[in-house]
Amino acid sequence: MRLSYRKFDLQLKHPFRIAIAARTFTPLVLIEIEKNGWIGRGECSMPPYLGESQDTAFAFYQLVEKSGILQNVNLNSIDIKFIMSAIDALQEGHSAAKAAIDIALHDLKGQIEQKPVWQMLGSEPMVMPVTSFTLGIDTPSVLREKIGGAANFSAIKVKLGSENDYEIIETICSVTDKPIYADANQGWKDVHFAIEMCHWLASKGVVLIEQPLPKSDLEGNAKVTEGSPIPILADESFQRFKDFSKIAGAFHGINIKLMKSTGLCEAKQMVDEARKRKMKIMIGCMSETSCGTMAGAALAPQCDFADLDGPWLTVNNPYETPILRGGKIELSNNFGLGIKQLL
Ligand code: MG
Repeated sequence: MRLSYRKFDLQLKHPFRIAIAARTFTPLVLIEIEKNGWIGRGECSMPPYLGESQDTAFAFYQLVEKSGILQNVNLNSIDIKFIMSAIDALQEGHSAAKAAIDIALHDLKGQIEQKPVWQMLGSEPMVMPVTSFTLGIDTPSVLREKIGGAANFSAIKVKLGSENDYEIIETICSVTDKPIYADANQGWKDVHFAIEMCHWLASKGVVLIEQPLPKSDLEGNAKVTEGSPIPILADESFQRFKDFSKIAGAFHGINIKLMKSTGLCEAKQMVDEARKRKMKIMIGCMSETSCGTMAGAALAPQCDFADLDGPWLTVNNPYETPILRGGKIELSNNFGLGIKQLL
């Protein structure tokens, strides 16, 4: 197998502001794994505050090439789980860089075995949840304009954790009655304030809240979870499968992102474990092209909520935009991820 990789800056439609950062593009690395004319595509998306970069991804891929792990793969029976555990053991960290390899291997295996990735994962397209459209922290007039541009979406996700939380929610409620997912991105610092916010947000039609308090404050998050009338999901507090034990009892659910989980293999394990623990599951994304988005969408029918809006928030997606029908991403019957390259 031949691994190739290139840097790609994914430009955002609007500067994106959350409680802890703001940016106008997200650095990606697009990868291809090629064997006998088959090409599997993957990507890693690396918002700067998470600690990975295009350069660290390149360094990791050089390590993968040197290891020979991909050279010895038998095309007739690609064991992605086995390959990914070897890739994961090469060096700690690099979750997004690893995710790109996992995604490309799923795309490749699906094409070779003539199956869509969602079928490989055991997903049922009929139970696909709606996907939310994400609004960064903005002024009321910009928020109104962005909601107007999100007519095809059936749920709104909004970033909170600024001093304008009340105004932001009131603005959204004044123009739409779609369900709202709120994401505080660790932006609230006080347990009592957070619990009050949960009650107020619930009264405004908010159906879930992500990461109310800082990721390491598990005791505080547990109190918010106990006091909240709506589900509280861990995002920053939950990265890899091993974090289940760490966050036990502190949240009602988790936000799984392929860039955190090192891809679909571990994400599928997370879904199965969360179901056992009776936890709610959201599948989310970073700023991603159709490649990462369709990989997430392949697992989305096994989740309660989907936030897979990357292609609609960016301007230079190098693949065809996924099809959105009734607010849901349509899974294609094409083999692999079913994505088509434009650039
Ligand atoms: Mg989040």
